[in-house]
Amino acid sequence: MVLLIQFILYLYIFVIGIVIGSFLNVVIYRLPREVSVAKGRSFCPNCNAPIKGYHNIPVFSYLWLRGKCADCGGPISIRYPLVELFSGLLAVLVFAVYGFSFAWLVVFSAGAILICITMIDFDTMTIPNGLIIALMAPALLSFFVFPQVGLLSRVIGIFIISLPMLALALFIPDAFGGGDIKLMAVAGFMLGWGNTLLAAFIGVVLGGVVAVYLLVKKTADKHMAFGPYLSIGIMTALLFGDIIIGWYLNLFGL
Ligand SMILES: [Zn+2]
Repeated sequence: MVLLIQFILYLYIFVIGIVIGSFLNVVIYRLPREVSVAKGRSFCPNCNAPIKGYHNIPVFSYLWLRGKCADCGGPISIRYPLVELFSGLLAVLVFAVYGFSFAWLVVFSAGAILICITMIDFDTMTIPNGLIIALMAPALLSFFVFPQVGLLSRVIGIFIISLPMLALALFIPDAFGGGDIKLMAVAGFMLGWGNTLLAAFIGVVLGGVVAVYLLVKKTADKHMAFGPYLSIGIMTALLFGDIIIGWYLNLFGL
C-alpha cells in the first residue's frame, strides 16, 4: 500500500515535470526568436499550422503522431519529447533527493532554467540575459533552502570562477562567452564557493572531453557552447555536491 502511494506520488511528480518540460520547449524555441512565450498557441515550425490541444500532450502526442505534424506531415524534431522526458526525470530526481518541499521547488526551478540555457546555448552559442536574470530567483531563494551555506561563502562563490574566467576571456578571446561568466557568478551565489568549484570542475572536464572528441573527429567549429557543460556541473553540485565533496575529502582523510 505504502509502495503504491509512493509510486503514484513519483508518477505525479514525473507528470508535473513533463508538463513543465513542454513549456520549456516553448521558451527554448521562442526566446532566441524574440517571440513572446506567454502569447499565442504553439504552431508547427514547418507549416505554421496551430497545434490542436489534443495534439499537444507532452511526449504522448509525439509518439501518437509518430513525430510528424498532423497537418503537413513534416517532421517534428525528437528533441521536443526528449526535453519533456528529461524535465520529468529531473523533477523525480530532485524529489528523490529533497522530497516534496520548498527545496524541491527551488532546485527544480534552477534545473528547468538550466535546461533552457543548455538547449539555447547549443542552438545559438549565446545564453540570453533573461535566463541569467531568471536564475537569480532560485539563487536568492536558495538562502532559505541551504541555510548552511553562509553569505560569505556565497559572495566568494560569485567571484571564485567568474573572475578567472573573465581574466581568461581577456587573454584568450573566444575562450568563454560573457553568458558563461554571468552564469557562473549567479550559480556561485546559489552554491557557495565549495560547490561552485565542483560545478566548474565538472563543467571543464565534460566540456574538455567533448572538445577533444570534436577535434579528433575534425568537425570542430571555432566555437563550442560551454554553457551546457557548466549547467550539468551546476545541477550535479545542487543535487549531490555535499556528498561528492564529503567523499573527496574523506579520500584524503580530512
Ligand atoms: Zn505542419
